[in-house]
Amino acid sequence: MSGVWDDWLAERAALRAERGTERFDAVLRLAHPEGRLREPLDLASNDYLGLSRDERVVGAAHAALDRFGAGATASRLVTGTLPVHRDLEAALCRLTGQPSALAFSTGYAANLGALTALSGRGAEILLDAHAHASLHDGARLSRGPYATFAHNDVDDLDRQLAAREGSRVVVAVESIYSVLGDRAPLRDLLRTCRRHDALLVVDEAHGIGVAGAGRGLVHELGLAGEPDVVVTVTLSKALGSQGGVVLAPAAVRSHLVNTARSFIFDTGLAPAAAAAAAAAADVVLADPSLAERVRAHARTISSTCGIEPAAGAVQSLPMADPAAAVAVALELRRRGVLVGCFRPPSVPDGVPRLRITARADLSDADVLEASRLVARLAAADRLGAGPRALEAV
Ligand code: PMP
Repeated sequence: MSGVWDDWLAERAALRAERGTERFDAVLRLAHPEGRLREPLDLASNDYLGLSRDERVVGAAHAALDRFGAGATASRLVTGTLPVHRDLEAALCRLTGQPSALAFSTGYAANLGALTALSGRGAEILLDAHAHASLHDGARLSRGPYATFAHNDVDDLDRQLAAREGSRVVVAVESIYSVLGDRAPLRDLLRTCRRHDALLVVDEAHGIGVAGAGRGLVHELGLAGEPDVVVTVTLSKALGSQGGVVLAPAAVRSHLVNTARSFIFDTGLAPAAAAAAAAAADVVLADPSLAERVRAHARTISSTCGIEPAAGAVQSLPMADPAAAVAVALELRRRGVLVGCFRPPSVPDGVPRLRITARADLSDADVLEASRLVARLAAADRLGAGPRALEAV
């Protein structure tokens, strides 16, 4: 690389170091499930139900690999649509109670596809201020105007929709938020959208498998199948696989097949991933106790750490500063417990935090022991921790 680019990269790296925002993609998990070395206790991943290693899920992936090969080999519109994609879409409809489904290669692509295809000429997009980056990116790619409304603030949404009377508006929110773990007031949001003829897109990335006996928050609230609600899910969290799905009325599905660029110009989801996710969706539907178990573990984490219980699997412990958050996460890792460490710019409110994720397949004893360790190591560096917190360590 030439000197100019070396200098520029070094300058960017120095800025990250100064701000404490360097991100790491370290290998933290071993390849083999029965590994000879003990794996760290994972309270950081999004494998909320432990299904990524469930034998029914892995078995379905193996079978699809043998039947259809390693890749989908083309876009879904060329030769990339396989029976496993249809099975997956049917399984997701059964799980969520939605009328039709379209699978994408990731949840990210599903959100890009939904927002770009549903907006278009003359439309505007309003995003909850804490909405995931993929929803923001979808709004950007729509090439139309977009704005945010205050997080979970129905009155602000109402005001902003009133100011856009006459425009076709798409409102995008998450059902359970990915970093703070709080839930959206979906019924009130939908009522408000309806008053202004707006369409509501709900990203259930953190709701599916966890809320509503695993069927998601939209289903729990009786909103599945409503004609003006479009749901997106990722298959890479509670369903333990990869991929994303948009769930909506059949007319919306046809519209996406014809206009969503992240569907049309992307290779179909790999057969093994599609089959794994379909099997996982059936497991979740058949066994609601999985969702109950992950929520019970989440309650253990929040009560042990003395934090407000969140709505789903993710519990969030606010820290005083980014460096302290990293130091505590590294010390936890050294002691065999993995937690997420989220810092600006990956946090919506600028507050660095440890993100502690419950997992249904862990034992009660392991969750309690790990939560106690997190509480002890984080005590001195929590947001607002004073001398009393230090004494408690
Ligand atoms: N939406 C939300 C709320 C997410 O948290 C994520 C994953 N971080 C995505 C979408 C993207 O899903 P995927 O990882 O399948 O691309």
